[in-house]
Order: sequence, then C-alpha cells, then structure tokens
Amino acid sequence: MSRILIVEDEESIADLEKDYLELSGFEVDIETNGRAGLKAVQMREYDLFILDLMLPDVDGFEICREIRSTKDVPILMVSAKKDDIDKIRGLGLGADDYITKPFSPSELVARVKAHLARYERLVGTGAYKNDVIQIRGLKIDKTARRVWVNGTETQFTTKEFDLLTFLAEHPDRVFKKEELFREIWNMESIGDIATVTVHIKKIREKVEFDTSKPQYIETIWGVGYRFKA
Ligand code: CA
Repeated sequence: MSRILIVEDEESIADLEKDYLELSGFEVDIETNGRAGLKAVQMREYDLFILDLMLPDVDGFEICREIRSTKDVPILMVSAKKDDIDKIRGLGLGADDYITKPFSPSELVARVKAHLARYERLVGTGAYKNDVIQIRGLKIDKTARRVWVNGTETQFTTKEFDLLTFLAEHPDRVFKKEELFREIWNMESIGDIATVTVHIKKIREKVEFDTSKPQYIETIWGVGYRFKA
C-alpha cells in the first residue's frame, strides 16, 4: 500500500484530501505545519507527497527542496494562488505537479494515481531500483550504502556497513568470529579477530536500543554472533 504525506495547514482541506485518498486505498498522514512536515520527511518513508505552498514557519517550497535532496518520489504542490504556482514552476524545484485551490478531491486522487503509476513504471525498469534489506526498524540500502535506524539515517564506516549487511543477509545463522573476519576483512588488513568484536560493539551502539539486550545481533557465547531474523 502506498503511503502519502499531506502537509497542509488548513485542517478541513487536509482531512478532505485524506478521506478521499484513504477511500482509494492509500495510507495517509497529515502534518499541519511546515516544521512538523519537514521532520516527517526526514523520519519516515513515503511514496508521494502533497505539499501546500504557504505554511506557517517552514513553507512547502523548503520541504520540496529537502525531499528532492534525497528522494525522487512524486511531489504534488498545492497553492491557493495561481501566480505562486507559476512562480515555483519557473524555479524548477523538481515538483511533479502543481494544483491550484480549490480543486475537486477526485481530481487530486486521479493525479496521485497517475503520478504513482508513472513512478512505479520508472522504478520497475530497474534503473532506480535499489537493493534494500528491511528488518524491523533497520533498513539497509545496499545500493546506496545507506542505513536507517528507526527512520533516522545513521552513519557507518565501510567495515561496519559490510559486517552489518553480511549478518543481516544471513539471519538465524551463527558465524564464528574467524569466519566473519575472513568474510569482511578478507585477510587484507593487519589485525585479528578482536577487530570483529570491536566492530560488533560499534554497530550495536548505533542500531540497538539497549546494547546489553541486543535486538539484532546476538552473542552466542563461545561461538560467535547471530543476526535475529
Ligand atoms: Ca496554507
């Protein structure tokens, strides 16, 4: 099911949009000010955004720019003023569509469907398809080498990323430290299996809520580590 974020300060409009979109089978969140909208953009994953241009504090313009800095999903900009629409269109912000208020909700739904279908076709060609592993609150984009922990992007060193990804790709299997060292470091580096322990500790500090009770990487005493499926 596609998830949509509406950022709109006029709550009656936001609710109407949400009702119609939900009737069409979409999952919809609403934020009613720019700052909360920006936060939602950074914290959660959406398939499409509907942004009102004029918002208290951070405007739709700014939110559009923030989305485009990391994502290519469809963005629909909404404004009460046709002049504003013309202006932002001219700025080439990368929004996919511009809608002037008032508009009919069914028209909005039709445009949302069209943009999602177009985007899915694009992604379906493989050109934009990234290899992603998602396990509970952990999301690893292997293609982009990026990691999100509970929706927040988190930085990992090259070896931390390789080790975490390797374990996540082989859940429910116990690996000895020697095996992990051979797999990830490939004997190329100076070091020993204590390196594995150090890296596991660093990864846990980033992915675990409580490192003494790991939810992802378990220690199997006297053997090694296992990623919880
Ligand atoms: Ca507004």
